[in-house]
Amino acid sequence: MVALFSLSGISLGIAKIIDGNISIPAYSKQKFATCTCCNKKSKRIHSSYIRVLRDLPASTHCVSVNLTVRKFFCKNPKCERKIFTEQPGPEIKAYSRMTNRTRETLQKFLIEVSARKGSYIANLISLPVSPSTALRIVDSLPIPSRGKVTVLALMIGHIGKG
Ligand SMILES: [Zn+2]
Repeated sequence: MVALFSLSGISLGIAKIIDGNISIPAYSKQKFATCTCCNKKSKRIHSSYIRVLRDLPASTHCVSVNLTVRKFFCKNPKCERKIFTEQPGPEIKAYSRMTNRTRETLQKFLIEVSARKGSYIANLISLPVSPSTALRIVDSLPIPSRGKVTVLALMIGHIGKG
């Protein structure tokens, strides 16, 4: 079952079902990380913490990936950052609480409905999000370009007559 949830650059542990939700431990496959400030590689681990990421549901179960994120010392004496956090694989956006595929799935229907209705529908398909999170997901979408505006028409109706 774990192979279904593969994420590039991430090792997944044995999934457990806790309170009806699937919980999967995850770790970076890399033995080093690259400093986000000076781009030097480091193997010296400072600390780690667990980041819980919502992933796509399996059957009717919510899925969370419990990613262990490590902090490293930067060895470059000229770098202003002494400790930095490793960046997860390409399928996880920095600081995000969900995988990219989960965000993309939510965006497909949240763009069509209100935040409250989107939250309701997302909960029905085991992707629980609050209305405010639904709004943030839609807000993060790029505004589509409609090209250059050449003609702007304004229609004024009869208000209050009749
Ligand atoms: Zn550095």
